[in-house]
Amino acid sequence: MMIAYDKQPHIRQRLLQAYHKDKLAHAYLFYGKSGVGKLEVAKWFAKLLFCKQVGETGACVTCSVCKRIDLGDFPDVDIIQPDGASIKVEQVRQLKESTHYSSLENKRKVYILNHVDTMSISAANSLLKFLEEPEQDIYFLLLTEHKDKVLQTIQSRCQLIPFVSISSTIIEKDLIDRSVPSHLAKWISLLTQDSQQALEWAESDTFFEFHQAMLHWAKLLYENDVTSFVYVQTTLAPFIQDKALAFVGLDIVSLYMRDVMLSAFDVSNVHFKHKSMGHQEGFSTKDMFLFIAKAKERLYANVSAQVCYETLSIDIVRL
Ligand SMILES: [Zn+2]
Repeated sequence: MMIAYDKQPHIRQRLLQAYHKDKLAHAYLFYGKSGVGKLEVAKWFAKLLFCKQVGETGACVTCSVCKRIDLGDFPDVDIIQPDGASIKVEQVRQLKESTHYSSLENKRKVYILNHVDTMSISAANSLLKFLEEPEQDIYFLLLTEHKDKVLQTIQSRCQLIPFVSISSTIIEKDLIDRSVPSHLAKWISLLTQDSQQALEWAESDTFFEFHQAMLHWAKLLYENDVTSFVYVQTTLAPFIQDKALAFVGLDIVSLYMRDVMLSAFDVSNVHFKHKSMGHQEGFSTKDMFLFIAKAKERLYANVSAQVCYETLSIDIVRL
C-alpha cells in the first residue's frame, strides 16, 4: 500500500532542484531505517525522469507513465531486489545487458537496487565498473538500511542521501487519515518509527488483540495482581512467540506505566489519560522501569519471551 503523505519533502526538494538545474548525479545512495520512504522517493525520482508533465512539484503522478512506474511495470525503470538473501552477480550482468535494450522512445534508464548492502562481492565489483564509467542517461539509485555494509568504493561513486526517521506525529496523522481509530493510531505511532510497519499493525487483527491483551496485563501488573503471572501463559504466550512482538509488548507496558503515573499528577504531556488508580502501596517507579529494562536484556540474550514475561510479572508483583 502506498503512503498518502509526502515522505521526505526536503530530499524531494533537493532532487527536484538538481533536476531543474540539470545537475542530477548518475548514482545516489539512499540510506536510512526501514519505512522512511527510500523506495517511494526512488520511484518518485524515476517518474520525474519519464513523466511528460513535470511541474513545479515534480511528476504529475496521474499519467500512464507515472502509474506504470508505481506498479513496477515500466520497461526503463528496473527495480532490483535481492534474489533470496543477496543481490547476485548474475542480476548485475542482466542489468548491464538490459542497458543496450532501451525502449524506442527513450534512451534513458533508471535502476533501483534495493537492499544494496546484500550484494555479493562479485556483484558489487561488477556494479562498480558500471559506476566508474557513467553513461549519459543512466541513473542508479542504491537503497540501504546499512550504509556501513556498502563497499567504500561504491559509496565514493554515489551522492549520499541520508533519510531521517519519520516523526510520530506524522505517522499518527497518516493513520487517522486512513480511518484508523485515533486511540490505536496514537499507540502505534509511539511504538514504531517505521511507517510501513505502522500500517501493517493498523491493519492487523492480531496486532489489535495483542495490544488489548498487553494493556490488560499492564493494568494487572500495576495493581500488583498475582493473576498477571497466569495471564502470561493463558493469553500472552501465543503472541510473544514472535520475538519482535515480545519487544513491542514491553514498550507497551512501559508507556502504559508512564501514563498511569503521570495521570496521577495531571501533567500535560500524558499520551493517554487514565483514571487515577491511586498510588500503589510500596510501589516504586524506579524499580519497575528497572525490571522492564531487565526483561528486555533477557530477551536480547535469547531467554524465551514467556520466561522473560513471567519473571517480570513476579518481579513487579513482589514490589
Ligand atoms: Zn506523469
